[in-house]
Amino acid sequence: MLGLGAAARIAILLTQGARERLEFERLAASLGHLENVNPDHFDLSDNWKRVAHRLIDWQNSLTRQLRERQAGYQKLELGQRLAEAAQRRAEAVINSFSDAVVVTNSFGDLVLANPEAERLFQFSLDNARGQPVRDLIRQEAFVGLIEKSLEHPDDARRHTQEIALENHNKTRWCKVTASRLLDAAGDTAGTVTVLRDITSEKATQARSAEFVSAVSHEIKMPLASVKAYAEMLADGEAEGDPETQQKFLSIIETQTDRMARMLDGMLDLARIESGVVRAEKKPISLNEVIEGAVKLMQPTAAEKNITLQTQLSSLYIAVEADADMLSRVALNLVSNSIKYTDPGGCVVLRSRLLQERALLEVEDSGRGIPAEAMDKLFQKFYRVKENAGMAHGSGLGLSLVKHIVEELHAGRISVESEVGKGSVFRVELPLKGGVVESGDG
Ligand code: ADP
Repeated sequence: MLGLGAAARIAILLTQGARERLEFERLAASLGHLENVNPDHFDLSDNWKRVAHRLIDWQNSLTRQLRERQAGYQKLELGQRLAEAAQRRAEAVINSFSDAVVVTNSFGDLVLANPEAERLFQFSLDNARGQPVRDLIRQEAFVGLIEKSLEHPDDARRHTQEIALENHNKTRWCKVTASRLLDAAGDTAGTVTVLRDITSEKATQARSAEFVSAVSHEIKMPLASVKAYAEMLADGEAEGDPETQQKFLSIIETQTDRMARMLDGMLDLARIESGVVRAEKKPISLNEVIEGAVKLMQPTAAEKNITLQTQLSSLYIAVEADADMLSRVALNLVSNSIKYTDPGGCVVLRSRLLQERALLEVEDSGRGIPAEAMDKLFQKFYRVKENAGMAHGSGLGLSLVKHIVEELHAGRISVESEVGKGSVFRVELPLKGGVVESGDG
């Protein structure tokens, strides 16, 4: 049995233990959310206080680590979001370009490409991203330019070259500029390559070179002939022979006329093509245009014993056109028909309606045009070899006619022809407001 003193001590101890446990529990309850709890303010023994201090230190250290991690994650997420936003911005910028753009990393793998580049090289960015451009794009000159930018980091940062891209037997000329991208440390990070389609510029260059060479060729011959005969006259080769002198002078005159005609034709064409002479459009009657042309050309046709007829629509066909220009079209076509039809032949001018379009037809019973000449007929200076002997000409008339009809009046010109039988030139024009008013015709 325990003595009373001992029991009291145990009771005191027990009471003391229970109280301390309660106090400790109170302290523990605060630990979860209070960092600055001070165990010294609790009624605890030193041992418990030490335990509490350790626990608090431990918890504080855990909390700190947790916060640091959270901040790290937030930073990482923010960085990722910023990178994604930057990528989206870069994509939006290059997608808005009308030029094709291809972006690679420093290994030459595809990173980005805009829809123009996808179309040009026929790949889809979603499937192609990350692939080496050399495997993806089989255009040696293009890939070579990108590799040159990547492999020679000491060279200029930008390389430009005009490259012909062959695709399905079609050539597209592009001005390609490959620029090296640098990272913050100044090392090569990749390339951005921009391809500007210059196919039409190249075609214009080729056309003007062709034009200059055609003009020089056309002028050279008459000029040489004028020079030769003028020299012969100057050297007295026809002295005392008025008939030969007259012959030489007549050749000089014919050749000079030919050059003047050609220059006139070129000036006309240049003025109309360049827009110096503008189309003054107003509603005009197609039949009136045809009647005007026939009246003017009747004497020439009669001189050559060619019958000039009209077959006009009984409807009033109104077209929105420049009256002078449309007259030129009709005159050019009738004049050609008369020029390339033998005496005794016939030329008919017709007006009619064809599926909401006004139609002007000039049909002749002339020499006709060989099939192989058809697609060159409207080119500048082109003359059909077989018919050239029939009349003088510059080979510019049909080119002017086509420009007036198709470029200035949204119409269309076509031709059907059979050698030895004749030709039909057909001009389609939009109707004025798409309506036909009835009238005397
Ligand atoms: P040109 O001044 O030589 O007549 P064009 O441009 O008007 O030039 O015509 C080009 C060529 O087309 C002519 O040289 C001619 O050979 C041919 N041509 C044009 N119209 C006719 C036609 N009605 N019949 C036969 N050949 C034609």
